[in-house]
Amino acid sequence: MTNAFRNFVNGRWSEAANGATFQSINPADARDVVGDFAASAVEDVHQAIDAAHEALPKWRNLSAWARGEILRKAADILESRLEEVARAMVRENGKTIAEARGETSRGVALFRYYAAEGVRCVGDVVPSVNPRTMIYTTRVPLGVVSLVTPWNFPIAIPVWKLAPALIYGNTVVLKPATATPHCGVLIAKVLEDAGIPPGVFNLVTGSGGEVGEELVRNGKVHGISFTGSNVVGRRIGVRAAERGIKFQLEMGGKNPVIVMPDCDIEQALTLTLRGAFGYAGQKCTATSRAILLDSIYDLFAGKLVERAASLKIGPGIDESCVLPPVVSREQHRSILAAIEKGRSEAKLLCGGGVPSGEDYRNGFYIEPTIFGDVPAASSLAQEEIFGPVLSLIRARDLNEAIALANGVRYGLSASIFTRDVNAVQEYCSRIEAGVVKVNGETAGLEPQVPFGGMKESSSHSREQGRAAMEFFTSVKTVYLDRAGN
Ligand code: NDP
Repeated sequence: MTNAFRNFVNGRWSEAANGATFQSINPADARDVVGDFAASAVEDVHQAIDAAHEALPKWRNLSAWARGEILRKAADILESRLEEVARAMVRENGKTIAEARGETSRGVALFRYYAAEGVRCVGDVVPSVNPRTMIYTTRVPLGVVSLVTPWNFPIAIPVWKLAPALIYGNTVVLKPATATPHCGVLIAKVLEDAGIPPGVFNLVTGSGGEVGEELVRNGKVHGISFTGSNVVGRRIGVRAAERGIKFQLEMGGKNPVIVMPDCDIEQALTLTLRGAFGYAGQKCTATSRAILLDSIYDLFAGKLVERAASLKIGPGIDESCVLPPVVSREQHRSILAAIEKGRSEAKLLCGGGVPSGEDYRNGFYIEPTIFGDVPAASSLAQEEIFGPVLSLIRARDLNEAIALANGVRYGLSASIFTRDVNAVQEYCSRIEAGVVKVNGETAGLEPQVPFGGMKESSSHSREQGRAAMEFFTSVKTVYLDRAGN
């Protein structure tokens, strides 16, 4: 018998009103069912939004210090469950246990960071032209906010949205991805045990088409924060703009590394491979293009292929595996289709298929795949594949390398490997990316600094760090005059 999990609405665990369920499965072995989850409908979303609406006045009037106490408890509880949550994440999402532990720790750090935000300054006192007038700015919560999150970081992304939303006084309805509802349930349990008041945080599982749409459409929702694909993100942006509510979209990437001839080759190889194939390339900040200067191209490509072929593919729970399965049958199919298309565009240097052998039969595995001499206009160089696929592109010089790096519609993250300070300065000033690394992996973020993309990678607001305050609050400017004169 499979485990049954429910929505968390108004402080209670409840089934979908129509009793419908869906299953979440283990990507490393599709026969392993994680559990049955509420396949919620519009009625369930209404209940959650109504609960959030009702809970709002009390929550926003609580001191930020008191709200922070709950987040601090949530951090401690999540930390005490770190191994349990990490293992559940591996089972549901497929990532390696090392990545899952790291992500859960990130969730703990985010709760702690935002708990402390409750006692930090939120406004300024600004001199008035009138010496008897005091002008200050302050911030107020948006109200009820919807959070729609993807499967690739099923703990960290919901937490980096909900923790700032809550500390600044908003109430929340979270819809986790259909592929990772159990991680959503685990977050709700942490918040329940931390003493979150009924209605302040609500979890509704179910499909994007039903639950997600209503979370954007509903008139009682005052803001929406989304991470996922560009297609869905753009639609949410249009709907939110029509309703005149605040929205925040974090979407795709086609992240490049530029490899200069004077780089530390060992470092560049290790971090390019890790960026491209760690977590099977399913990070929005994963490395999907390596732009190699002509004079280093053959040497670097040869070593990359040699190393990629030796990466151990296997279930994330096996500590020795570095390349886990991709998250779902749909992603497996779509990545393999992109590879097939790529075969007609460029030279396949390694991988390109499903690994053979009994160990891989029931999971969604794909070999680490590298294409060489990829033309800049091809789909391999332009489209987000979100799998273990790396495109090598030749450049004559730094100038051309930066132009190639910028020649896509995305602008999320980028890196350069070099010892040349002039090249670094040129790249840092011209690269079109929200996250700019030097001698680093394109993936890998710290929670206390802003994160977000340029161009079509985002709606141009930033998440994490203090930047989250910009989204989850509205500014009020107060002119304070004395009575009389
Ligand atoms: P989606 O954009 O479809 O899903 C992200 C979230 O949005 C999920 O919770 C999803 O629900 C929800 N959603 C789907 N449709 C709607 C809708 N009409 N209204 C409101 N919410 C909706 O991404 P996928 O998971 O399908 O992944 C597809 C591709 O997206 C990947 O291959 C990758 O390219 C990109 N992606 C990018 C991510 C990033 O971090 N930038 C993260 C994940 C994916 P449900 O799960 O129920 O469909």
